Amino acid sequence: MENRQIVIIGAGPAGLTAAIYARRAGMDVLLLERGVSGGQINSTAEVENYPGFKVSSGLGLGQAFREHAERFGAEFRDCSAESVSFSVFEQGDKIIRTDRGGISADALIICSGSTFKRAGCKGEMELAGHGVSYCAVCDGVFYEGAPVAVIGGGNAAVEEAEYLAKFASKVYLIHRGEEFRAQRVLVERALCNPRIEPVMGCVVDEIEGKDMVERVVVRGLRSGETRTVSVEGVFVFVGTAPNVDFLKDSEDIRMDGPGWIVTDGKMETSVEGVFAAGDVRDKFLRQVVTAAGDGATAAMAAYEYLSNQYYLKDRLFVPERAYALFISGIDESHLALAGETEDWRRGAGVSVLTVDAHRNLRIKGKLGIGELPAMVEMSCGKKARETAVSSLDDVKNFIGARGPLH
Ligand SMILES: Cc1cc2nc3c(=O)[nH]c(=O)nc-3n(C[C@H](O)[C@H](O)[C@H](O)COP(=O)(O)OP(=O)(O)OC[C@H]3O[C@@H](n4cnc5c(N)ncnc54)[C@H](O)[C@@H]3O)c2cc1C
Repeated sequence: MENRQIVIIGAGPAGLTAAIYARRAGMDVLLLERGVSGGQINSTAEVENYPGFKVSSGLGLGQAFREHAERFGAEFRDCSAESVSFSVFEQGDKIIRTDRGGISADALIICSGSTFKRAGCKGEMELAGHGVSYCAVCDGVFYEGAPVAVIGGGNAAVEEAEYLAKFASKVYLIHRGEEFRAQRVLVERALCNPRIEPVMGCVVDEIEGKDMVERVVVRGLRSGETRTVSVEGVFVFVGTAPNVDFLKDSEDIRMDGPGWIVTDGKMETSVEGVFAAGDVRDKFLRQVVTAAGDGATAAMAAYEYLSNQYYLKDRLFVPERAYALFISGIDESHLALAGETEDWRRGAGVSVLTVDAHRNLRIKGKLGIGELPAMVEMSCGKKARETAVSSLDDVKNFIGARGPLH
């Protein structure tokens, strides 16, 4: 099977930035994209909040990201990731199955973004980008002093209505239910805002306008009566979902309730060597600039991870004989023992590698290391001996049994 150092799923702002950083760090990078590279931003007419680009078309910005990644030699493949699986034991253990065959990767960065749901009414598609929007932070500022409609009744709709009320003269908050689904505190705050007018128990049948949005046709679900409301913008917030279908059989990756991937500050997921960046992860603000920032972090974290893996492999699995002290890097007493061992080994000219088993679960699993801290003797890539240790004397005794390695 084809093996690559870093495979990135999704060539939106997060994936493309990850590719730039990983290539500049000298890594081999393959990007998988099932649609058009550039990602969601391709679907917006104008972007004016990406630093350095005062105004850009969405398509132009997406293209600039791609050209930048190509300049550093990232390889692209038009294909869809369909499933992934992981084995804790081997390098190249991340298997990505695509509609064009399987690939194994030493590290995987998931940047597959999210998909927003459409309201599904007449005129929505035709006027998308011409007054119909799915992002208040992106487009709210274009509606200064104008009336707008928000469709939806969940947290996003209510929060974004409040955000839009900073600019718009009036915000009609149109919800099919008789009560909002959003958190009570958000609803109470929004309803205190004189610019927000709730329109309950109603659906939008049609968004009308010649070239730009001019009005919406609203129908009461109980009465069946329709009325026309003049607005210049329609913001649709009826749900957004992460693009994680290809993870459906992989229970190892931790996600929150709706399926957003949970990461730490280095974008690492619950699976060692698998990172997630951009809109697909559980985060506060889903924008190009934050996706790009995540991508950069994920790439450098993947680089650090792989460098460490390759280093450990060279020092542990290649030599005829090697000693390693396996510790848990989150345990103070283990760290103290590692420090003492390091001081002693330098003075004595002995070679002992310290391995944080907490951050290297794969190697720990592969060697079947039990209780920590543990001294391990490796011989030609295989574990020859292992003993649990608790003091520097234990470490010295372990090495003394076979003689030091200089
Ligand atoms: C209409 C609209 C307007 C917006 N306007 C702005 C704005 O003005 N400013 C701003 O900062 N942000 C804006 N955003 C938000 C911004 O586009 C996103 O935050 C950003 O694109 C997220 O980047 P990403 O790389 O995480 O994901 P995405 O851009 O969603 O990219 C993910 C990529 O992964 C691919 N993919 C998904 N699944 C697979 C798979 N299984 N196999 C292969 N490929 C896959 C997708 O095809 C896609 O290209 C807007 C969003 C929308 C929808």
